[in-house]
Amino acid sequence: MVSPPPPLSPIEVQLITTATALINSLPKSTTPHLTDQSVSAAALSSTGRVFTGVNIFHFTGGPCAETIALGNAAAAGINSSHTSPSTDSDEKLVLMVAVASRGRGVVSPCGRCRQLLLDYHPGIRVIVRDGEERRVVGLQELLPYSYVWERERRRAGTEGLGTEGV
Ligand SMILES: [Zn+2]
Repeated sequence: MVSPPPPLSPIEVQLITTATALINSLPKSTTPHLTDQSVSAAALSSTGRVFTGVNIFHFTGGPCAETIALGNAAAAGINSSHTSPSTDSDEKLVLMVAVASRGRGVVSPCGRCRQLLLDYHPGIRVIVRDGEERRVVGLQELLPYSYVWERERRRAGTEGLGTEGV
């Protein structure tokens, strides 16, 4: 039997509150299912800055809220944990959460967002839903046996295969 998760910290609860307030503040669309935003995300940096985003629903596959939050962080100079040392600040994204509309609460990131987080911010921790519980996990738990694009690119290069197909 899996033990219940430890209580969330005040900072983790605050990030959920921020994302919840954001999704609850949005006006309802007059064309639901076409343009409604249904998920918000909030990302906390190591210096305490918070970057938010909401999904852009579209039948062709609009971006998730987490993706928009990552873009907002990038626009503020936090592009990736892999940023080169010459342009890198010490500020990193350390915590992410997504919250669904209509009182649905915390939602776990989709597969694409998990891969994005792994490739851009491998040290980030994510608040996820685990049944009726919420817990904070790292990318190793979200994506076990993951595909690490940078590692595979290096392997292909050192084995003389180039980067095709990587
Ligand atoms: Zn997603």
